[in-house]
Amino acid sequence: MEKVDLRSCDLASLKAYMEQLGEKSFRAGQLYGWLHQKMAADYDEMGNIPKSLKEKLAKTAVLTTLKVKTMQESKIDGTRKYLFELADGNLIESVWMKYKHGNSVCISSQVGCKMNCSFCASAIGGWVRNLTPAEMLEQIYRISKDTKERVSNVVVMGTGEPLDNYDNLVQFIKMLSDEEGLHISQRSITVSTCGIVPKMKQLAQEKLQITLALSLHASNQEDRSDLMPIAKTYEIHEVIEACRYYFEKTGRRVSFEYSLIRGKNDTKEDALALSKLLKGLNCHVNLIPINPVRERSYVEPDMSHVLEFKNNLEKYMINVTIRRELGRDIDGACGQLRKGYLKKS
Ligand code: SAH
Repeated sequence: MEKVDLRSCDLASLKAYMEQLGEKSFRAGQLYGWLHQKMAADYDEMGNIPKSLKEKLAKTAVLTTLKVKTMQESKIDGTRKYLFELADGNLIESVWMKYKHGNSVCISSQVGCKMNCSFCASAIGGWVRNLTPAEMLEQIYRISKDTKERVSNVVVMGTGEPLDNYDNLVQFIKMLSDEEGLHISQRSITVSTCGIVPKMKQLAQEKLQITLALSLHASNQEDRSDLMPIAKTYEIHEVIEACRYYFEKTGRRVSFEYSLIRGKNDTKEDALALSKLLKGLNCHVNLIPINPVRERSYVEPDMSHVLEFKNNLEKYMINVTIRRELGRDIDGACGQLRKGYLKKS
């Protein structure tokens, strides 16, 4: 019989599992507290759980706890990049960032990525597998234990395409925001997608209050499909339509990520085309000067040019900010999470 993935169970399935084991249902609540509030790493920590139950669990369930393999801290801004080892030996990365308004964790949703965006390091080495809800939660739990600080924001912007791991993602969001767990407000959770249209529409119907971020990166179909292979399947206008739908269904303003690449998508004409594309949409644009990736040839524009691009968008009444870059010296910035450590090992 397949073992139960204990830390991926929500409270209802944990209750059903306790019943199956012939245990009282209040044990489910106790266990859930240990797993998701106290973020226990193993059964030894669970003081009020009887030995007999622990033995049954050890036989019929697996308890997912990530191992910190390495941690690098940025000398510039204190950002930390964690390399975690999963039970099957795969390695994933997560980033912890300190902001004035609280601490933020950027988590991975897959081992590797299938999407192959031309400026991103995540797909180098291909896609290996999806992460379970437990493996996504654990990135936050281990970091919060290690830093001894509360995590207030979670962004699913690390390695992987979250909407390509849909069911696990939704379960993860529900558990992360559950009041019996860490209880992180859904409004403080952001999911970033390259634009898988049917899944964006499905997500709009889940009645979640999370922020959807769309990786746009271009103002027209031709340039976008040059940068992002997925744009050949879901064209730019379909993707924008799906964002409009997301706003209508959830009332949540969509956030657009636009990585500026010198000579590629950073002209005055691009700014004009972008503002036309987003016209009438309740949204926010996040400009990210592209982070150079060793294997890729793109270069970021000068800061003065980035500011000019921003001003141009503002002229057309677009809400826009420039993403502050953190952790550059530890390859912790957007798109830099990579499988470089594989080369070393
Ligand atoms: N698959 C999801 C989430 C992971 S990428 C997505 O595509 O949105 C997180 C963000 O970093 C995306 O907007 C992605 O396009 C961006 N990104 C990737 N490589 C980058 C780089 N080298 N410089 C700046 N941003 C990058």
